Amino acid sequence: MYLKSLTLKGFKSFADRTSMSFDPGLNVVVGPNGSGKSNVSDAILWVLGEQSAKMLRGQAMEDVIFSGSSARPAVGVAEVTLVLDNSDHTLPIDFSEVGITRRMYRSGESEYLINGAPARLMDVQDILHDSGLGKDTHSIISQGKLDSILQSRPEERRELIEEAADISKHRRRKERSLRKLSSMDDNLARAKVVAREIN
Ligand code: ATP
Repeated sequence: MYLKSLTLKGFKSFADRTSMSFDPGLNVVVGPNGSGKSNVSDAILWVLGEQSAKMLRGQAMEDVIFSGSSARPAVGVAEVTLVLDNSDHTLPIDFSEVGITRRMYRSGESEYLINGAPARLMDVQDILHDSGLGKDTHSIISQGKLDSILQSRPEERRELIEEAADISKHRRRKERSLRKLSSMDDNLARAKVVAREIN
């Protein structure tokens, strides 16, 4: 599996639709200061489901939408599509190419698509997680991240090791199942009340 292409439109400094393709192996993005190199890695983090504006170097999530320049007005929607080559079937989906799209409107409404079909954030996370990709899997090391790892508390380092050892995925699934069980209990309690009223 490798990152095949990235398309940005209305994302940070990329007002116009901009596509870039990558080859297997090492790829390097070069450019002058302020030309948008870090915005490209922000776009990758964002499309993989990042929920923290701070991780994307902003104050609010809306900051990812192109806010206008002296040459053109702001736009209302940001969209990023990342295409992964999945011909080795690393991702558990029956396609040799997997396109993940995230779109966000100024209203705050966000949508995800997997190969063009509407999906939930949870679906994106599930597809990516076993591959070692995904927003919490430390496959993207941003500026300053190494320092923060070196200075982190033991509990934070433990979280990192658990993520690398694939334990946190099971913890997340357990939490999700417990939430479902709890809502089942509520439904059951309600059904019992209704049954008592009928009898
Ligand atoms: P450096 O080499 O200095 O780290 P860089 O190439 O990584 O720079 P970025 O940090 O990716 O540059 O891009 C910074 C530019 O993106 C700034 O000019 C900033 O104004 C612009 N920018 C960021 N967010 C938005 C936005 N929402 N709308 C318009 N422009 C934006």
